Amino acid sequence: MYRIGQGYDVHRLVEGRELWLCGIRLDFELGLLGHSDADVAIHALCDAILGALALGDIGTHFPDTDPRYKGIDSKKLLANVCQLMRDKGYELGNCDITICAERPKMKPYIPSMRQTLAEVINTPVDNISVKATTTERLGFTGRMEGISASAVALLHKI
Ligand code: MG
Repeated sequence: MYRIGQGYDVHRLVEGRELWLCGIRLDFELGLLGHSDADVAIHALCDAILGALALGDIGTHFPDTDPRYKGIDSKKLLANVCQLMRDKGYELGNCDITICAERPKMKPYIPSMRQTLAEVINTPVDNISVKATTTERLGFTGRMEGISASAVALLHKI
């Protein structure tokens, strides 16, 4: 039995914050604003997995009003979501993430992003796809006001 889910997230780009995407820190002059480390790509993936399980969203499981999650490494949230998935009797088949950002260029980071997510999820790296695109300088991502990410995840019964 298979279940599919999708997730989407946006965070604002600001000065004075580190930029974390797919569990790694990127070398960039701006970072994403959020209660956690604001890893928009992991948040989209968590919502895709939770969506596949019909278990609500990341905000219901890890409220941004809860001081326990202040500044938290989003890899911990993903590990927690994967535990929920396995508790429900499911395993990740594969997932596909698209990061939408004008800059920085993601290409050099993609292999370590995939490797990092594979280790957190405990799945082979070829189950993890990470892609990046720009919006051709259009809209909020094009103006570098924020970064968005979307993800789909396919789960199968253990
Ligand atoms: Mg978020």
